[in-house]
Amino acid sequence: MHLKSITLKGFKSFPDRTRLEFGAGVAVIVGPNGSGKSNVTDAVLWALGEQSPLAVRGQSMQDVIFGGGKGIQARSEAEVEIVIDNADGAIDLPLGEISILRRLDRSGEGEYRLNGARCRLVDVLEVLSDTGLGKEMHSVVSQGRIEAIVTSRPKDRRLLIEEAAGLGKHRKRRRRAQLKLERTQDNLDRALDVEREARSRLRPLKRQAEAAELHERIERQTIEARWELARDSARERRAALALAEAAATAARTARDQAQASLGAVAVRRQSAERALEERSAVREALVRRASQARSAADRIELRL
Ligand code: ATP
Repeated sequence: MHLKSITLKGFKSFPDRTRLEFGAGVAVIVGPNGSGKSNVTDAVLWALGEQSPLAVRGQSMQDVIFGGGKGIQARSEAEVEIVIDNADGAIDLPLGEISILRRLDRSGEGEYRLNGARCRLVDVLEVLSDTGLGKEMHSVVSQGRIEAIVTSRPKDRRLLIEEAAGLGKHRKRRRRAQLKLERTQDNLDRALDVEREARSRLRPLKRQAEAAELHERIERQTIEARWELARDSARERRAALALAEAAATAARTARDQAQASLGAVAVRRQSAERALEERSAVREALVRRASQARSAADRIELRL
């Protein structure tokens, strides 16, 4: 794995697109003071995701954007792309070349791209995590840092040498694992608390469940008893209905018979009335004849 090229555009002292190509082995950039040599290493650091403006010798991150000079206008955005040769597969991606691009504009809007695809800073850091590249990896030792390293406390120097020897990533991994372990322990403690609380709630819940079951059983039995009662009463009512229907039929028959005998009585009454009328007429005729006879007898008596 080695740095294959750097392309700068609008970054610090590189207003126009500038591409620097490197082969395997040592590359030396030579130039007069202030010509932009350190800006190249800043560009590498920046493209790898550096978040501190101080680390790239600025006050704010927008200071990396070309600010104008020598009749050249300031640029609105800075862009750096570094291409890493990954022929040896040091970066665990099935790609022969890894391109990392970072862009930033004056409003603070920026983006990262991995082999042209838009991504997040964490994705860049993830890709670089096992390579010894990236921020805080000391893969880029900037000007002035050598003196700081030489005069640093043995403890800090040891850290730095460990980082440079590639132990840093293991230390970071151990730290990550420790944090993960602590988080897992926390989660476990929380889960145990939850379990304890759930257990304490379980007893009353069990009692409630038993009461609910009993209630359900009694309710079922009540419904069955009501159903049984309703069936019995329906049976009784059906029997009463049958009896009532039989009584109604008998009453209807008796009514028909009574009506028939009533008809016969009416016929007999009519004939009796007729006979009575006839006898009344005979009686009246007899009364008349009797009175005539009496008058005749009276006349005869008078004549005598
Ligand atoms: P030395 O050999 O003295 O360390 P150097 O070659 O490393 O110098 P750098 O420090 O990389 O030089 O570059 C400094 C130059 O970059 C300065 O001239 C400065 O004006 C220019 N520069 C830095 N930031 C910007 C910017 N945002 N816009 C324009 N020019 C910039």
